[in-house]
Amino acid sequence: MISFEPEPEFQTKLDWTREFCESELMPLNYLLMADKQAARAGKPKVLDEAKFKRHIRSLQDQVKKQGLWGLHLGPELGGPGLGQVKLCLMNEILSQAGMAPTVFGTRAPDTGNAELIAHLGTPEQKKTWLEPIMNDEFRTCYSMTEPHAGSDPGMFRTRAWREGDEWVIEGEKWFSSYADEARLLICMAITNPDAPLISRASMFLVPRDTPGLEIVRNVGTFNEPWGEGDHGYVRYNRVRLPADALLGPEGAGFTGSQTRLSGGRIHHAMRAVGTAQKALDMACERVLSRETKGSLLSDKQMVQESIADSYIQLRQFRLHVLYAAWLIDKHKAYNREVRREIAAVKVSAPKVLMDVVYRALHIHGSLGASNEVELGQMWMNMPWMGIVDGPTEVHKVTVAQQTLRYFRPSDDLFPSYHLPKKVAEARAKYADLLEHEIGAL
Ligand SMILES: Cc1cc2nc3c(=O)[nH]c(=O)nc-3n(C[C@H](O)[C@H](O)[C@H](O)COP(=O)(O)OP(=O)(O)OC[C@H]3O[C@@H](n4cnc5c(N)ncnc54)[C@H](O)[C@@H]3O)c2cc1C
Repeated sequence: MISFEPEPEFQTKLDWTREFCESELMPLNYLLMADKQAARAGKPKVLDEAKFKRHIRSLQDQVKKQGLWGLHLGPELGGPGLGQVKLCLMNEILSQAGMAPTVFGTRAPDTGNAELIAHLGTPEQKKTWLEPIMNDEFRTCYSMTEPHAGSDPGMFRTRAWREGDEWVIEGEKWFSSYADEARLLICMAITNPDAPLISRASMFLVPRDTPGLEIVRNVGTFNEPWGEGDHGYVRYNRVRLPADALLGPEGAGFTGSQTRLSGGRIHHAMRAVGTAQKALDMACERVLSRETKGSLLSDKQMVQESIADSYIQLRQFRLHVLYAAWLIDKHKAYNREVRREIAAVKVSAPKVLMDVVYRALHIHGSLGASNEVELGQMWMNMPWMGIVDGPTEVHKVTVAQQTLRYFRPSDDLFPSYHLPKKVAEARAKYADLLEHEIGAL
């Protein structure tokens, strides 16, 4: 039986999470916002950093007590092993509270990096890196995109080669998020340029303090002023690493990255559901509160259309994300069928966000355009959803290719569904039922 209702036991967890996010995490978000604004205006900071860190640890302890730490992970890695459908429902809530990934141990890119080390790392690598990452002792970075190439791994130039007992890495990486503050970078480098694309690259564990690892600059997104930003432009100047810095087998870089990115893509879509829902909730409250030309906004039919369009679009998207999650749980692998649905929801996410957030922002008028509600922030975070982890076009190609796999070309001049042929076949099949010869089409 298909049910749209979570089991009561899990519903209790969802209720606890919602209440915890609203009462504990959202106020922290507002404090952080105020802190950032104060720093930009050259005023003293609001937050005491040491006290803040201690408080975050105590919140993480509460989450651990609930058995909700590292939500995306299976029990073998210290998580609750919820599976993707339940993770969807959780992520919808967590995405509405900016601090949640840190407090619930689901912060990107550490989540995906931990999974990579868990699946591909040697016992020694796991001991050195996995446990502290899982305990949120430091940040990590995934360093793959290059300044001249992002969507096409066939164009990557960063090379790694053996010199005696060591690996040497030479090349440049771009938009390596948190490279500067991370203690560990996972770098993708070409180890065998002549091999078929799928086995051309390998991944390396690079401690941040390795000589030759240079942060050229930290790049910000367009809503940040110059000089602020988390996305490292990184240069690997003949960085020398011990032989055991290789993560997974040599040549397994691209297959490893696909597994990592597939999970990340659907998590983006899950979070997009929560963000869009928040925007729609804001729009609903506003139209029931604001009056113009003698009636509430909610009484105007064009405003009703806007609310209805957002509701329908979001509902469809949410069901699609849940379906993709259910498929992952069913197959327990990122097979072709699963990849098609993940690609499809990855394509929809920025479009749904763009439409729903824009409608909400527009309905708020000047307040929507101001920095006194979060809609502008949601709007500015939206475009990168269509770029990060591969641009929309590339995912549309996946959807189309995986859809077309189920079809064959017609072996006739006309298509298989051409009515004259169908009628002739039907006449032949039911000849005994025909009282009169019917005219050919
Ligand atoms: C906020 C953010 C965080 C990121 N964090 C990381 C990170 O931590 N580590 C990391 O390695 N990378 C990271 N990236 C980089 C990201 O993975 C790349 O931006 C992405 O893969 C696209 O590559 P590109 O930017 O080089 O764009 P390009 O490859 O230059 O593509 C530009 C545009 O060309 C078009 N296009 C590209 N390919 C095709 C195609 N096949 N068919 C039709 N049109 C196409 C699309 O419109 C696309 O948006 C991050 C990016 C963002 C925005």
